Amino acid sequence: MDTYKFDPAIFIKPPYFKCPKCKKEGYGILMVRSDSYLRRCKYCFYPKGHEEADVYDLPLLKKKIIYLDQFAISEMAKVKDDSKGREKWASLHNILDSMVLNQLIVCPDSRYHEEETELFRSLRKEIKDFYVQMSRGVTFKTSHSIEVHQISQALKKFVGEDDNQQHLFPWEDAFNGNPSSWHDHYHIRVNKRLDETEVEKRRIQKEKYAETMSKHLEGLPDRESFDFDNEVKIWNNATADSILILYDRYVKEQIAMTLGLKPFDPSLYLYAPTVVDIAEYVISFFKRRGIESREDLISKVQEFFYSEFFDKVPYVNISSLFSAGISRKYVFGSRKGTNVGSYYDKQIVSHLLPYCCAMFIDNEARSILSERPVDIENKYNINLFSLSNLDDFLFFLKNINDSADSNIKANVAAVYGQWHEVKL
Ligand SMILES: [Zn+2]
Repeated sequence: MDTYKFDPAIFIKPPYFKCPKCKKEGYGILMVRSDSYLRRCKYCFYPKGHEEADVYDLPLLKKKIIYLDQFAISEMAKVKDDSKGREKWASLHNILDSMVLNQLIVCPDSRYHEEETELFRSLRKEIKDFYVQMSRGVTFKTSHSIEVHQISQALKKFVGEDDNQQHLFPWEDAFNGNPSSWHDHYHIRVNKRLDETEVEKRRIQKEKYAETMSKHLEGLPDRESFDFDNEVKIWNNATADSILILYDRYVKEQIAMTLGLKPFDPSLYLYAPTVVDIAEYVISFFKRRGIESREDLISKVQEFFYSEFFDKVPYVNISSLFSAGISRKYVFGSRKGTNVGSYYDKQIVSHLLPYCCAMFIDNEARSILSERPVDIENKYNINLFSLSNLDDFLFFLKNINDSADSNIKANVAAVYGQWHEVKL
């Protein structure tokens, strides 16, 4: 029987230089950290544990965060060497990948990529491998986590602890690690087991969303009576309502179970909707500030959820602007046949957009988000691209590429072996 022999030299990557100790051409890269890298020899393993590590500092990076939606990811993932008619996607992939390797951009993946890929019945593995490879391990936190960070800022503004009118978008709120780190040769991703019943639930949720949206559109007034700002307000309140109503239902069920009026159901605790967490977070925020009586707490919580501070929470605001934009398009269009906007477009844009420099999304979503009253690009300082302005996207990438300074170029070559020339 063969025994597997672990060879630590496989972790020492090129480019190799002459080792200061054994003089062989094996002095390579042991590890790349967020702002430095270490060298070691693959033959004599100099420097060993007792010797001083050979550390090189790396310059600070300011990578542009570019979100690629599921459509772009799956089109690029389908490119094979002999793909005819996919040259456009093959070329875009080459450009993006070179720029990722050059440490100029990062294309993070998210739970939405995972969820949408799971909804596909074929090519699941190919698409997943592709976005994980593109992201080099940089991945968005869950939407729920982003929501809590944004709500926390809004609460501090609401009680006057933070007088900055603007919301801030530090990377810590949206990513587990700094997306502007120099990337290592390795990144580890734990594979979650696919739960087909969960996937089916999401499929139903998506259909339900489309149904609800269609019904809402049919009930909209005519052009003369349509008021965009009021429509935004309706959606803001709908978000507040859904949190409070679901929380209320959850608490009532919990009480009924505690009193023995309902059989004990552990799933109530295990699968509580994330909005329950949001409500509990808000309640505990006010408790920590000394509000104790139940009546006072309830009125404070309600006051917050129906205040302009909640309306201005970025994920709430973007989601409402997007929905009102869909309504507006429906009313001013032919009042039919409007793509109601996919469930995922809205989720992705409302949660991830403020943390990105650019997003590649679908044509319909981009047109809704760019129209005058919605005007997401100016409001959130984001560059939106889609297939219909692909040339603008390429020009945007070219500008980033052309602005790379010589110090970064030299360090990229030192750490990864080469600077990738990008043809744009
Ligand atoms: Zn050596």
